[in-house]
Amino acid sequence: MTKYGVSPWLDQFPKSRIPSYPRYGGKTRPPGDVVIIGGGLTGCAAAYAFAAAGVKVVLLEADRIGRGATAASAGWIATEPGVPFEQVEKSVGLRAAKQAFQTWRRAALDFAALLRRLEIKCGLEPHDAIVVARSQEDAARLKKEQRARVAAKLDAPLLNARAIGAGLALDGVAGLREKNGATIDPYRACVGLAAAAASRGAQIFERSAVKRVTFNRKTADVLLPGASIRTNRVVVATSLPTALFKGLIRHFWFKTAYLVLTDPIPVKIRRLLGADHVIIRDLAEPPHVIRWVGDDRLLVLGADSEAAPPRQRDKVVVQRANQLMYELSTLYPDISGIRPAFGWAADYALTAEGLPYIGAHRNYPHHLFVFGDASHSVTAAYLASRVLLRQHLGQSDSGDEAFSFNR
Ligand SMILES: Cc1cc2nc3c(=O)[nH]c(=O)nc-3n(C[C@H](O)[C@H](O)[C@H](O)COP(=O)(O)OP(=O)(O)OC[C@H]3O[C@@H](n4cnc5c(N)ncnc54)[C@H](O)[C@@H]3O)c2cc1C
Repeated sequence: MTKYGVSPWLDQFPKSRIPSYPRYGGKTRPPGDVVIIGGGLTGCAAAYAFAAAGVKVVLLEADRIGRGATAASAGWIATEPGVPFEQVEKSVGLRAAKQAFQTWRRAALDFAALLRRLEIKCGLEPHDAIVVARSQEDAARLKKEQRARVAAKLDAPLLNARAIGAGLALDGVAGLREKNGATIDPYRACVGLAAAAASRGAQIFERSAVKRVTFNRKTADVLLPGASIRTNRVVVATSLPTALFKGLIRHFWFKTAYLVLTDPIPVKIRRLLGADHVIIRDLAEPPHVIRWVGDDRLLVLGADSEAAPPRQRDKVVVQRANQLMYELSTLYPDISGIRPAFGWAADYALTAEGLPYIGAHRNYPHHLFVFGDASHSVTAAYLASRVLLRQHLGQSDSGDEAFSFNR
């Protein structure tokens, strides 16, 4: 039976090991220099980064740690932002685009290194990715993209149809290799980062929804039911610009992506799918991302569309899960007949250029925001934690510019 509406990361995590943090009761000891709103991967990575740098930090999560977009994500640490370089170059210029791509890549490598160093058990496995063009038209786009990257002196190894067929057992015309990415269980990574942050002094509170933030020139007040925290710095890591910041909503388009995880694929068929467990991204509109989970299941992400109204959501998840299984079978005909074990949805906000906004906004003194990750990869959560810490300490570097609201 397919489980709809829940991701395998949450379903398979032992209930007895779900961490529990107190509700905010009106006191922090000592008071935080920084209040983080949102305890997903972004908020927890930021809590760890700030606490490890000696900053006193309080994290407020409305629900439970890691059970929002984090638990719905695909668990891919991509080394690229998932937007064509040419598109980023057009909006922010060559220098900033190049720095954005380098900063993203550095963040992916550092994120995996951090998870290793902290010994967070989240199934971290190194995997390259290949962007596959399946038609002549897509191949022409991919080659143009590759030339733009080479001109910017970025690594962009092009693969031909034979190399794709040999490694992936796929009909592809051309491919672009993204080296040194990784896959994880994003929920376990988030829970592990929260624990690491707490052990360095971060104060984490669950079931503590922020209702409003007010501010004047000197301080901000973070308001919860029956309590408030006065602070000089508010980090907003709620993934989407929620009702707390209505004034920022106009910068985003709200979308939903759908994901399925297949039943185990019999070994005979697995052999036919190619030995390389690389992550595949195609150039379909919307694109698919396909990764292996363990040795025998495929996770497929795609079918992105406008966010469905809440009352239709359950029905749409079932439709889209079946659509994704069909689309997977057109890529790999051998798997037809394999059923989905899980089908679920992930909401996200898209920016005009496709890169997330990370940092200050002139209308909100004392605030730093992270909104709009459409990369379908976790890297932005870690990248944001580093950019935010630099900004808080007044040590921003030029690689952060492409992610600012003023780009
Ligand atoms: C289709 C898709 C695929 C993705 N694939 C990947 C992937 O492969 N790898 C990956 O890891 N990332 C992936 N991502 C991105 C991923 O969603 C983010 O990188 C990250 O995991 C999201 O973390 P977050 O902390 O920003 O958001 P969330 O996990 O949603 O955390 C935000 C938290 O804020 C809390 N919150 C909201 N309002 C309030 C309030 N008022 N007060 C207090 N708390 C509040 C919520 O309860 C929630 O827990 C994907 C995204 C999409 C859309």
